[in-house]
Amino acid sequence: MKPRDIFLTKLRRGATPRVGTGSATSIVTADLMDKVGVYFPDAHLDAEKMARLAEAGYTELGFDNVMPLFGVWHEAAAMGCEMDWGDRNHMPDGKTVCDTIDEEFHVPEDFLNHPACAVPLKALKLLKQRVGNDVAVVGKVFGPWTLAYHIFGVEEFLMSTLLEPDAVKRILRELIKVPIAFAKAQIESGADALTLADHCTRDLCSPDAYKDFLFDIHSELHESIPCPLILHICGDTSDRLKYIRETGIDCFHFDSKIGCTNARELAGETLALMGGTSNMRIVKDGTPETITNDVEEKLRQGIDVVGPECAVPLDAPYKNLKMIAELTKKLSIEKIAAEK
Ligand SMILES: [Zn+2]
Repeated sequence: MKPRDIFLTKLRRGATPRVGTGSATSIVTADLMDKVGVYFPDAHLDAEKMARLAEAGYTELGFDNVMPLFGVWHEAAAMGCEMDWGDRNHMPDGKTVCDTIDEEFHVPEDFLNHPACAVPLKALKLLKQRVGNDVAVVGKVFGPWTLAYHIFGVEEFLMSTLLEPDAVKRILRELIKVPIAFAKAQIESGADALTLADHCTRDLCSPDAYKDFLFDIHSELHESIPCPLILHICGDTSDRLKYIRETGIDCFHFDSKIGCTNARELAGETLALMGGTSNMRIVKDGTPETITNDVEEKLRQGIDVVGPECAVPLDAPYKNLKMIAELTKKLSIEKIAAEK
């Protein structure tokens, strides 16, 4: 079974000869940029460079998927936010908020033509041609909650959820057009599956707010986007996993703050789980011993795709990611053989 088939089968919790390994979010480190000879900010703005750096997730690290959208600002940039696209040691960041929450706000019709969206679409095409037979090509879109932070500012948006919930609901309905259109364009460009990232963690969105504002939106995104979806939410999401598993979304990319025993219990048997490996303790500061113990724990708890919990810190050593991928393959094959 090819890595691509293992990854995509695991998103549905199907039977495979080994456990999957990969990530829904960025696997780029500064030393991986050195190895490939491609750097931020070029890797966000040039499709050829973006594809080359993403491809290293497979060719250098040994993961079962590639994912070229390293930053979190592509859609907001395409909608007019001014950007600092970062460098070897910095992730991209928006410089200013770019709109206000009012009746006038509308998603620009041509946002997909902006380079911030057009470049990743072209990079997905290149990846599909180059490695798409062997590994899963994964795209990424942001949900309306994160987009609202980027466009209106976190504080302004969160205040509005309390003061003018109806205006917020209208804004979220308007913003849902963005992930739907961008997702469809990414699928046309060759994406086999998509990360849906939405930063509605506990410190930024209560469980009631999740149910009120986002449950229907995430369920609708699952229904409108015709490929497997991997929902990524950072932080401790244990109080909303019961809702997430009802959205119909295929897979949840989880943070180590939940803990993998807890994550599997809350996710039940049908929601696939990816990630959960601590970016600080294991990806950045791990030793062969702590990494081995961590991978073994993931395999015991039935994690379907083992890998980092979120975008890896740029100052982590890429060799640790490579070790996670190698150990996941080796130990899961041994475990499956021993159980027969
Ligand atoms: Zn995250």
